[in-house]
Formats: sequence, structure tokens, C-alpha cells
Amino acid sequence: MQIIIAKSAGFCFGVRRALELVEAALNAEEKSPIFSLGPLIHNPTVVKGLEAKGLHVVNQIEEVPEGRVVIRSHGVGPGIYQYAKEKNLEVIDATCPFVKNVHQLAVLLKKEGYQLIIIGEREHAEVKGVLDSAAGEALIVSSPTELEQMNLELKVGIISQTTQDINNFQQIVCQIVKRTKECRVFNTICLATSKRQQEVAELSKQVDLVIVVGGKNSANTCRLAEIAANNGTLTYHVESAAELQTDWFQDKKVVGITAGASTPDSQINAVVEKIKSLGGIISD
Ligand code: SF4
Repeated sequence: MQIIIAKSAGFCFGVRRALELVEAALNAEEKSPIFSLGPLIHNPTVVKGLEAKGLHVVNQIEEVPEGRVVIRSHGVGPGIYQYAKEKNLEVIDATCPFVKNVHQLAVLLKKEGYQLIIIGEREHAEVKGVLDSAAGEALIVSSPTELEQMNLELKVGIISQTTQDINNFQQIVCQIVKRTKECRVFNTICLATSKRQQEVAELSKQVDLVIVVGGKNSANTCRLAEIAANNGTLTYHVESAAELQTDWFQDKKVVGITAGASTPDSQINAVVEKIKSLGGIISD
């Protein structure tokens, strides 16, 4: 059984940067408590490891009594920075620069009089943060069907959650263009995301089975599994090697492995080793 590992499987730039910032803060001489607004990354194993080193995970900034507060790579709106300033909390800002760019574009489009449309998931932290930057004034669209029910103005500005599926983005933009007179589109899907999505789309055509490794709460990891499954390839999404079942691999000639942007190498390697123990050989 041949194993093909997607080239860019695993941590993206933004997640690696967030982890490095937090590791450095935890190891610093300064010993005030450090709180993360939500799990630092969407990977329960990594988050547990950081908690063991002293990071406290909270859901709301109001739960932070003192010390340092980490803004995750997903970013937050201006209200959180303002609150931190008023409470004298030190901010460790791990917002991914690509997400910062989405916030800046939201502000720009509003300022220039466009009706703002964010293509993304309403409940995702990144989208909530961008919506805050737009003072809560934006339509959030996750699918072409959802768009059908919405009233559009004649002048529309479009941005995207950085981890959106490019095909979904394109379909929604095409629908919007048909219904407006002026449309300004920024494709803010980050390269790390689109590269992983293209790779898994290609990979799923070459293999009998795709294993996607990463947090079940990670939007970008779930998207990889969706893309592979939508291509008609048998796909399993696992958080760890322990979830792999021997019978999945029976009679399979080629297995593809990929991982979300918040999956550490250690988890990918553990999955690879388990598949090797079942007769897998890594192909060059
Ligand atoms: S997926 Fe892209 S936007 Fe999100 S943290 Fe990674 S590099 Fe940044």
C-alpha cells in the first residue's frame, strides 16, 4: 500500500507564528498570568499542552482579571482592544497578518460606501471579528442559496473568511455580480488555505482513501475533508492516530494523507507511522 503525503500538510505561517508568540510569552521572565481568548488553535491536543505550561483559556475577555491576554490568529474586533486598554491588560497580538488585512479591507469598503458582504461562516471567530471591525454592518453569506434571500444594494464590496472554499467563493461572487451595478471583490482567501485545498483536490483523484488529520473544530481541516469527499473519494477525518481503524485500509492500494493548518507535525507523523505499521510505504 502506497502512502502519498500532501506537500503542505500541517501548520500554516499564521498558526506557527501564534504558537511561537505564546511559547515565548510562557517562557519569559515576566510571570503575570496569560489568558487566551478561546483555544489558541483548533487542535485540542496542542491546546492541552499549552494549558499544562500555564496558559489559561477563557471564552470572554471579561473573564480575564489581570495580566496578559492573547489574541488568536483569527483576530478580534476593535472592542476587545479597547477593553484590554481600559483594564490595563497587556495584549499579545497573534492575529495573522492575512486576517488583519481582511479587517482593513472591511473598514475601507465601508468608508467608501459599499454594502459589505463577508463570505464565510457567521459563527466563526474570524468572521465575528471582521464584523465587529465593520461596526456590525455587513451581510454574512455562506452559500449561494443563502444569498437568494438577501437584499443587495447597487454598490457592493466583497471580502472572504480566509479559510473559505474557493469554489463556493466564486459561485457566490458570480451570483452577486448578476444582481448589482458596482461590485468590488477582494479575494482574501489566504494562500496557505487555497494551496492545501488544491492539493487535497488533486490528491483525492490519485488515491483510494484520504486521511485528513486535525481538530474536528478546525474549519480549514473540515474543509479539506469535505473537498476530498466531494470528489467521491473515501475520506476519514481523524484527530489522532488512535482513531485509525485497520479495516479502513483493507484492499487499498494508495492512501493519501493531508492535515489542516493547525495540525502539528507530531500528529501527522503518528498517523503516517500507524499506516506504515499496516503495510504502508511512503512514495517519493
Ligand atoms: S490559514 Fe492563512 S489566514 Fe489563517 S492563520 Fe493560517 S496563514 Fe493566517
